[in-house]
Amino acid sequence: AKKDGKNTYHYYDKNLDKASEDKFKLLQLLRPAINQKQFKLYYQPMISLADEKITTVEALLRWPQPDGGFITPDQFIPLAESTGLISELGRWVIQQACLFCARHRSLGHSRLRVAVNLSVMQFKDGQLQHIVEKALHEAQIPADALELELTESLLIDETEQIQKQLNSLSDLGVTIAIDDFGTGYSNLGYLRNFNASKLKIDRSFIIGLGTAVDDEPLVEAIINMAKSLGLETVAEGIENKATLHKLLSMGCSVGQGYYWSKPVPEEELGALLNKSNSS
Ligand code: C2E
Ligand code: CA
Ligand code: CA
Ligand code: CA
Repeated sequence: AKKDGKNTYHYYDKNLDKASEDKFKLLQLLRPAINQKQFKLYYQPMISLADEKITTVEALLRWPQPDGGFITPDQFIPLAESTGLISELGRWVIQQACLFCARHRSLGHSRLRVAVNLSVMQFKDGQLQHIVEKALHEAQIPADALELELTESLLIDETEQIQKQLNSLSDLGVTIAIDDFGTGYSNLGYLRNFNASKLKIDRSFIIGLGTAVDDEPLVEAIINMAKSLGLETVAEGIENKATLHKLLSMGCSVGQGYYWSKPVPEEELGALLNKSNSS
C-alpha cells in the first residue's frame, strides 16, 4: 500500500499484477477487520435548503488504519461486495446507524433520521427485512427514522425478488432513496416498480452548477421530473454558495455536501445537530 499526502491508501497501480496482489493483501486484512469490528461510521448531514436545518444524516463507512489514516469505501466496498463480506458488514452498518439515531433522538433531536447505503448483495439471502426490523427494535426507533439508499444501477437490474423486499420494507415505513441518480443510463421505467421517496442527484451533475451553465437544464429537468413523481430531490456534493443558490432557484429541496460539512465522526456531528436545532 502506498500512502499519499491525504492520508489515504492507494491499492491500485498501473501494473495489473501489482493491483491484484494488493487486492489479495487487502482481502487478507478485510476478513479479520470485519470480525473484529474495526470499522467506524462517519456521518454527513442532509440539509433542508429552505431553512438550512438538518433533516437526515447519511452514515458512511470508514476503515481506520493504525497510522491514523483511512482506507476509503471506494477501495474496500467493491472487494467486500465481490467476496460476499458486505452482508455482514452491511448488517453492522444498519445496526450501528439505528443506534446512532436513537442516541441523538434521546438527546433532543427527536425527529432525526438516518440513511444507510445498501449493496445489491444484501438482498440476496432474503434476510434484509429481518435485519432491519431487529435493528429498529433494538434501537427503539420507528421505521420512518431509517432511510435506505440504493444506487440507480441496483434498481435498474432489480429483480422481482428485490422489488418484493423493497415493497415490504416500505410497508414497514422505512423510506427508500435513489442514489447517484443520472448515472445509470436507464429508461426510467424502474421508477414505477417501487415506492421511493427521495432522489439523490449524482454529484457529477452538481459540481459545475453556478459556474458552468451546461448542466443546468439537465439538473432542472431532473428536479421537475422528481417533483411530478412526488419525490423529494437531494443534490449531492454542494461545495459552495453559488451552487446552493442555483439549486434553490431551481426548486431543489435538500442538499448535502462539503459546503455544510464533510462526513464527520459522531462526536462532531452532535455539535452540528445542536447548531442546526438552535439556529
Ligand atoms: P455515496 O453514497 O454516493 O456517498 C457520497 C460520497 O460523496 C461520500 O464519499 C461523501 O464523502 C462524498 N461527498 C459528500 N459531499 C461531497 C462534496 O461536497 N464534495 C465531494 N468531493 N465529495 C462529497 P465516501 O464517504 O468516500 O463514500 C463513497 C461511496 O462508498 C459512497 O458513495 C457509497 O457508494 C459507498 N459507501 C460508503 N459507505 C457505505 C456503506 O455502509 N455500505 C455500502 N454498500 N456502500 C457504502
Ligand atoms: Ca449514498
Ligand atoms: Ca451518491
Ligand atoms: Ca456514489
